Amino acid sequence: MLDKYNKKRDFNKTKEPVGKKEKSSNRLRYSLQHHLARKDHYDLRLEWKGIMLSFAVPKGPSFNPKDKRLAVKVEDHPLSYRNFEGTIPKGEYGGGKVMLFDKGYYDALNDFNQGLKKGVLKFDIKGERIKGKWSLVRFKEDNWLLIKEEDKYVNSDNINNYNTSIKTGRTMEEITLNKKKTKPRTSIKEGIVTGIKITNPDKVIFKNPKVTKLDIAMYYHKVAKKMLPLIKNRLISTIRMPDGYGGEKFFKKHLEENPYLGKVNIPNESGKKENYYYIKDEQGLIYEVQMNSFEFHIWGSKIMDINHPDMMVFDLDPDENLSLKKVQDGVKDLKKTLDEFDLKASIKTSGGKGYHIIVPITQKITWKKFRSIAKNIAEVMEVRYPDKYTANMRMKEREGKIFIDWVRNTKSATSVAPYSLRLKDKPTLSIPISWNKLDEISPKTFTIKDYLKD
Ligand code: ATP
Ligand code: MN
Repeated sequence: MLDKYNKKRDFNKTKEPVGKKEKSSNRLRYSLQHHLARKDHYDLRLEWKGIMLSFAVPKGPSFNPKDKRLAVKVEDHPLSYRNFEGTIPKGEYGGGKVMLFDKGYYDALNDFNQGLKKGVLKFDIKGERIKGKWSLVRFKEDNWLLIKEEDKYVNSDNINNYNTSIKTGRTMEEITLNKKKTKPRTSIKEGIVTGIKITNPDKVIFKNPKVTKLDIAMYYHKVAKKMLPLIKNRLISTIRMPDGYGGEKFFKKHLEENPYLGKVNIPNESGKKENYYYIKDEQGLIYEVQMNSFEFHIWGSKIMDINHPDMMVFDLDPDENLSLKKVQDGVKDLKKTLDEFDLKASIKTSGGKGYHIIVPITQKITWKKFRSIAKNIAEVMEVRYPDKYTANMRMKEREGKIFIDWVRNTKSATSVAPYSLRLKDKPTLSIPISWNKLDEISPKTFTIKDYLKD
């Protein structure tokens, strides 16, 4: 069944795998590749009897059941093709670039032997970016329609919103650049950053001061020893900025599966089970940087005891025109209040407008109780100093005051991790500081440059 595949290709010229029939696994595998060839399209592949059934989908899948997307059945591909990413030489069959867009497994929902004859395939995709029920329906010869079926995965997302590889974090441009390099450029610096390859190390993430992707990897490598004890085993969200400065930012609550991250499958706010990820060690941290995650946000509990939060965070968010002195006084007033509750607090810069006050919670309490304690503390502040602080997040209430942000103290909410880089206008950091340094250090004092000097 792979004859057609092999005949079309010259394996002296292309790095695509030679077609050999392999044994099928227990679980049927699926992959979706973005293929920039003569025509931009996506290749949907479904494992079946030791090969990948393959369909070229010009517009790519749509999550909307009303969209019926043309899917042209093409020659069967070998199983190993599902992981292929790279360039195919110009002039060769399919010449261009292939990016691994999504991968995972699927369940067949009808008999595929019959379905291939009749022209109806129904399946449930368990990918990272693509999930749920889909059908392929033949209407003429090799022309089929790919249709999203009604289920909870119907949404208004657009696959064009993703422009990086699920496997390597690379954009199409980086896939090309990698190819052009005759020898991979490895510097001493790159050697230090564990075994993980940072692709496109020179990509500029901040322009002024100039900070590259490799700088960011180096930074996290340098602070890993201090940062990891504070963030590991906590579920994370990250902010990705794959195109660097001026490009789009993506807040990711659900990262993609990879060998370096830990994963838990737990209900989200609406009770639906979803995968959440956490960092276990430096490799996981650096790998996320490779995936263009440059800012890290963490939960208030650890995975070993997800339903008992152990870290409360108050964020002091000042109204725009408030002096720095007033913000620092606010931190001190909050400390006084916490002291009265016998709560020991520490502080860190936010890297943005304010400071974060962190309170370790040693007793086992529920998220509900935790939230109400946080709310009470903010309200005590408001009652004591009504002209200085508000516990109300509405902008109007904040005028001339500091909002004591307590609302992040709830299950599945996050706050920026200690030592995280901030993707704000400058490469500022969120850094723990001691109480006696508070008056000397502003929320934006520390930048990544301070750590990259030597
Ligand atoms: P600043 O000092 O500039 O206010 P900050 O860290 O206090 O910095 P934000 O970066 O605005 O403030 O984050 C506010 C809260 O919202 C944090 O708890 C953060 O984890 C969370 N957060 C940030 N971006 C998103 C997002 N896109 N979706 C959901 N939560 C987010
Ligand atoms: Mn804030």
